[in-house]
Amino acid sequence: MQAEMIITNAKVLTMDEGRPRAEAVALAGGRILAVGSRAEVEALAGPGCRVVDAGGRTLLPGFVESHLHLVLGGNELSQLQLGGVAGFDDLARAFRAYAMQNPDLPLLMAQGAAYEILEHPVTRADLDRVLGDRPIAMMSPDHHTVWANTPALRAAGLLHGAAMPTGHVVVMGADGTATGELLEFEAFSPVLALTGDLHLQLGIATGGEPEPWPSPEQRAKDKEKVAAGLAHCAAHGITSMVNMDGNRYTCVLLQEMEAEGRLTARVKVPFHFKPHMALAELERASAMAAEFRGDWVTSGFVKMFMDGVVDSRTAFMLHDYPGTTERGAPLFEHERFKDICREISARGLQIAVHAIGDGAVRQTIDGYEAAGRPDLRHRIEHIELIDRADVPRLGALGITASVQPPHPPGAMDFPMSTMDHVFHRERWRDAYLTRTLTEHGAALAFASDWPVTDVSVMRGIQAALTRVPYEGCQDERVGLMQVLHAYTAGGAWAAHREGLTGVLRAGMAADLVLIDGDIEAIPAEDLGRTGIALTIAGGRVTHDGARL
Ligand SMILES: [Zn+2]
Repeated sequence: MQAEMIITNAKVLTMDEGRPRAEAVALAGGRILAVGSRAEVEALAGPGCRVVDAGGRTLLPGFVESHLHLVLGGNELSQLQLGGVAGFDDLARAFRAYAMQNPDLPLLMAQGAAYEILEHPVTRADLDRVLGDRPIAMMSPDHHTVWANTPALRAAGLLHGAAMPTGHVVVMGADGTATGELLEFEAFSPVLALTGDLHLQLGIATGGEPEPWPSPEQRAKDKEKVAAGLAHCAAHGITSMVNMDGNRYTCVLLQEMEAEGRLTARVKVPFHFKPHMALAELERASAMAAEFRGDWVTSGFVKMFMDGVVDSRTAFMLHDYPGTTERGAPLFEHERFKDICREISARGLQIAVHAIGDGAVRQTIDGYEAAGRPDLRHRIEHIELIDRADVPRLGALGITASVQPPHPPGAMDFPMSTMDHVFHRERWRDAYLTRTLTEHGAALAFASDWPVTDVSVMRGIQAALTRVPYEGCQDERVGLMQVLHAYTAGGAWAAHREGLTGVLRAGMAADLVLIDGDIEAIPAEDLGRTGIALTIAGGRVTHDGARL
């Protein structure tokens, strides 16, 4: 067989233990044809073969993003971005410019508004001064708070308050009207609904399907948003991703895009099981697993949330938060969760649970232990705090630690203030562990949780390599090769995709990323600024950053 494309004169890091390093890779038919020396591989060039001289750049397996939210992230890309914006004048300028560019949008929605964007807590009065004649709203970076102006609150029916489930709050002022601050999804979803695309949030919100089923016109609009998300990910070298929310509609959109030749990454989508659901609803998870099992769109796992997040103290802890008598609460009852894990495992499906507090982590491990199916590679997402007694249980039970190098406060974009407010000083040594988990046998998969943080894998690699140990705590960094493994082969294994992608070896899918430099020579603190020269998914160039 002749090569269709050869990348040569590269520093190839294959992530394949049998042959960790090479100089060139040949591709044909969407697969890797050969990995080897320049002479070996260049000999496979036939007529019409595209030969790329990598100029000594590092060639890796395409990045596997183990935890992101593609549809939400893609949707947000077209909204106003407020990262780095501070003070009323900047905020007003940004919103007014966005309003001019988008005269017809029913809601002007912004992302990435820092909690301290104004010197005081934001109110609807502030936002009315920004823009008083059209509905506007802005979301915090952690996606747990929205601030809205008066026209938006009125249009959403929230101006005079609304009954909400526990933990979801329309904050009310002394005058009996809403202040504009909306805490958690149920409280702000009526505002988001003004955009007309709330059905895109169902995968994370309810796990349900859109009703009525979106028309071809609506699906075309939705696919444009997914396409924007995919292009953004391709520019960061991502060729596979595990979407951490979902429903059948997400899979259908992706499968239509695959048929249209527009799907530029392999996407795994879960069934989202919510606490109120009966066990019988897992039949829908089995149906999704049976329907979507291709190389590009696949399901086969169930996502659950065991708790919330540390900043709002909704993460479930074994001990009270500092200076409080609260420790959060699990979203699933302990024994019922074990039954759910047994049922999902009996269906041969994998489980991924968001567990942030040490109480949530323990209860999740207990459920996996009860299920007794290490072959299914059940995984825990985040693990921001863990009790020392639970550390060895991950490896022993075959549980993957799906953690995010950008997340530890101080490591990338999140402020250190979180550490002071939510973790007891003596527990800092148990927070955001990576090296300790892997030294005790846990498999590692790395990710960004985009759009919660920047999807840039290079920035994530930098964060993983440069993270400073917390005062008096052990160094939780792992070496470069371990970091790269967790962003490639480790992620593929954790997603049951190791027979398809994650290493560069003949016969595997032609999923590759060419870094714009020699990753072993670039100082770690410069890696985040290093670009992606080329991304190839299934043999197709999905990003060409260096015009090679
Ligand atoms: Zn997430």
